[in-house]
Amino acid sequence: MSWEVVIGLEVHAQLRTRSKIFSGASTAFGSSPNTQACAVDLGYPGVLPVLNGEAVRMAAMFGLATGCSIARRSVFARKNYFYPDLPKGYQISQYELPIVHGGEVSIRLEDGTEKTIGITRAHLEEDAGKSLHEDFHGLSGIDLNRAGVPLLEIVSEPDMRSAREAVAYLKKIHTLVRYLEICDGNMQEGSFRCDANVSVRPQGQTELGTRAELKNLNSFRFIEKAINLEVERQIDVIEGGGKVVQETRLYDSDKNLTRSMRSKEEANDYRYFPDPDLLPVVLDEDWIEARRAELPELPGAKRERFVKDFGLSDYDADVLTSARETADYFEQVVAGLDDAKLAANWIMGELSGALNRDALDIERSKVDAAAMIGLLARIKDDTISGKIAKEVFEAMWEGEGSADEVIEKRGLRQITDTAAIEAIVDEVIAANPTQLEQYRAGKDKLLGFFVGQVMQRTAGKANPGQVNKLLREKLKG
Ligand code: ADP
Ligand code: MG
Repeated sequence: MSWEVVIGLEVHAQLRTRSKIFSGASTAFGSSPNTQACAVDLGYPGVLPVLNGEAVRMAAMFGLATGCSIARRSVFARKNYFYPDLPKGYQISQYELPIVHGGEVSIRLEDGTEKTIGITRAHLEEDAGKSLHEDFHGLSGIDLNRAGVPLLEIVSEPDMRSAREAVAYLKKIHTLVRYLEICDGNMQEGSFRCDANVSVRPQGQTELGTRAELKNLNSFRFIEKAINLEVERQIDVIEGGGKVVQETRLYDSDKNLTRSMRSKEEANDYRYFPDPDLLPVVLDEDWIEARRAELPELPGAKRERFVKDFGLSDYDADVLTSARETADYFEQVVAGLDDAKLAANWIMGELSGALNRDALDIERSKVDAAAMIGLLARIKDDTISGKIAKEVFEAMWEGEGSADEVIEKRGLRQITDTAAIEAIVDEVIAANPTQLEQYRAGKDKLLGFFVGQVMQRTAGKANPGQVNKLLREKLKG
């Protein structure tokens, strides 16, 4: 039997507001436990929540960027359940009337085609606290700093058909919330989290299969692995004559397996009802249009512009626009250099390699856009070859100074003096009579050997174009 995989994702994006969604407590990450939880976050008697307008604005920006409808009237609801990290005994969320619904994003598949993934809804809610199970000698500790931090829960249609598609969608949402500056996207710190709903069905069947929900997925790599594992497990269960049960499963990255956490609650277990402490959120046309006017250039539009204006390939344009900061860096370099392809190659090659190695964001790059222009300009005017430029780049990265300073200090200026190169070419030919004979007998490949010899004698500084030209002439005899 051939199986079709069906995946729908729920993304929780922590909104980058300074204070919490219903209180004035700080949302900053990493403070000592329970220093950023006020009476509202703790659910003390007599307190009242006050909605943070900034969270509403951010949710609307997301909706507008994904072609969703922005509800003119949305309602907060109480989702009731008991858990130690939820002081009130309910989470304030949205249920029947979410602030954003019905949009889509497009993803690019490996074969280069595009696919549209539907966004069912995005609603505002508060985060819960955190249970800490280590260092309490058999007890659990609770940190309520995170309680009340605003979340935007983004729910997709079950439109994805493979783990790869799910990851592509997730990366798209990740890119988008960072462009919009509504979420920092930090998966390690938990500010961008994802639950994956996975089911399988026989190829051709229209009805959906029973799904399992995977939690605890905190990296793109784990998400792909966990989904693939879960798909295999479900197929095994069905082919072994069993039935998939609807449940929540946890991914264990150490053991590389998923295991059952709890059977899935039905919505009516939560006894949702409108929160009587909060008024409905009413947004008018003018306000929504003002938010639309605030939208930055979005990744898709930027990508198209990069292809059209700079002649980049779809692939390069995709990579360079995947983060707004990378796109900005690229545009700054091109503005000072006028060679988009060279800029793209260096940003996607040496620069991104160095950033990865040092685990740095591009905003904290040790070679900024101005310094990069200084380096690439020296390749363009033939002061150094592309190969030597890599050495110069490394030195710049280590803080040795600008490209010009490094080139002077290390004596890396390319030899472009034809007479000087010619003398070395003659020396090399004279020193290798056997290879010369073989070359002339038709072994063309030996050109590379001669080039290598000249480069060795000049410590890589001879202009490669000139070396090639001179060697071809002289080797002919
Ligand atoms: P809940 O709130 O209980 O998790 P929802 O109906 O809101 O349930 O669905 C959550 C997510 O699960 C959505 O992204 C949806 O696309 C996805 N989903 C629903 N049914 C299936 C299914 N049979 N297979 C895969 N994904 C599904
Ligand atoms: Mg769910």
